[in-house]
Amino acid sequence: MSEALARIEKRVIPVLACERLPIRECLNRVNNEAVKSPRKVPPSPNSAMDGYALAIGSLIEGSIAELEEIGTAFAGVPYIGDCGPGQCVRIMTGALVPVGTDAVIMQEQTELSENGKVRVDANHRVGENIRQAGEDIEQGEIVIEAGVRLSPADLGVLASLGIAKLQVKRQPVVAFFSTGDELMPVGEPLQPGMIYDSNRYSLYGMLASLPVEIVDLGVVRDNPDSMREALANASTKADLIISTGGVSVGEADYIKPALADLGDTEFWKIAIKPGRPLTFGQIGNSIFMGLPGNPVAVMITFHQFVAPAIEVLSGASMKPPLLVPARSLERMRKKPGRTEFQRGVATLDKDNQWQVGKTGKQGSGILTSMSRANCLIVLPDDNDGVEPGDMVSIQFLDWAH
Ligand code: AMP
Ligand code: MG
Repeated sequence: MSEALARIEKRVIPVLACERLPIRECLNRVNNEAVKSPRKVPPSPNSAMDGYALAIGSLIEGSIAELEEIGTAFAGVPYIGDCGPGQCVRIMTGALVPVGTDAVIMQEQTELSENGKVRVDANHRVGENIRQAGEDIEQGEIVIEAGVRLSPADLGVLASLGIAKLQVKRQPVVAFFSTGDELMPVGEPLQPGMIYDSNRYSLYGMLASLPVEIVDLGVVRDNPDSMREALANASTKADLIISTGGVSVGEADYIKPALADLGDTEFWKIAIKPGRPLTFGQIGNSIFMGLPGNPVAVMITFHQFVAPAIEVLSGASMKPPLLVPARSLERMRKKPGRTEFQRGVATLDKDNQWQVGKTGKQGSGILTSMSRANCLIVLPDDNDGVEPGDMVSIQFLDWAH
């Protein structure tokens, strides 16, 4: 598994082209150059609370000071003028701290005396409730590295710096097709011996949640010419081509010869279950990934290999899978030698620890085992079975909540 990922990382060349886009359109896109802050955030000291701004020097040790309120500072409308000893300024959250003051006392910690003075005790310190200039971001600081996928928080950070547009990598174009003489499109009555093509829908769903351009090339029939034509066509359009089916040995295995004609391919038998056969290679400038036909294997191999390949292609770095420990609620039979991905439902127990059970039958054609799952239970090569109460690793499915 890890060797396959390392080979993908080595072979996949990130897209080079960039575009400058308004920052909202940069969400989930890959940042091209490190962003250095042109200014401090916040630009000037301001209040973190509604209260009174004053000089700590105006307070009286062991006693209550009574200060004269000389005006109000609002966010966006500063108090103009100095605040002297014995004086204070009413201040709102986000308002600039007036000249001559060095602390903001929360309203709740003050009292108004009968003659309108603001009463404050001496238990306060310089800088209290003041957000200092540059406290969030210093001028010149790198706030977003190159190669980072931009999150909602990143958009906020860019906006806080006044940056309206950003250079991001072009989105990779991903084309996909199903192969099989038995496949029928949804919307037509099912003919004897045929099945509906589900892989293009689960694939579409997984791709739609990624920042890529999607090209659906439909169903390709099991013959060498159609296969070759489909691959040649896809390679003129896409950075990544994904097919499903037609890669298992013995049957209508037309992907292999078509690829041998058109490109440079590696056929892998990866020691995973489900999803053993996976084809990886290149046609012209396009990366090709031939997934197995079984619907569960399609989703698992996409999750484990295609999604990381798309990360690299997008110009981001491959992230190691996030594995979370969970206590198994069930016995799981397994022989050593392959990494197995069981479909699971993880819940929190009464001590807030993850526990996990399987989603019923686990065959590689049982797609409902996937739709009912919120995680994959990852049983490594050397695992030889799980007993109830054993700890296992789970990987949450990003589309399941
Ligand atoms: P194959 O790898 O082409 O032999 O396919 C393995 C199994 O997956 C067979 O039972 C196929 O009928 C099934 N299969 C292949 N492609 C699809 C698809 N697009 N949708 C649903 N099932 C499929
Ligand atoms: Mg087939």
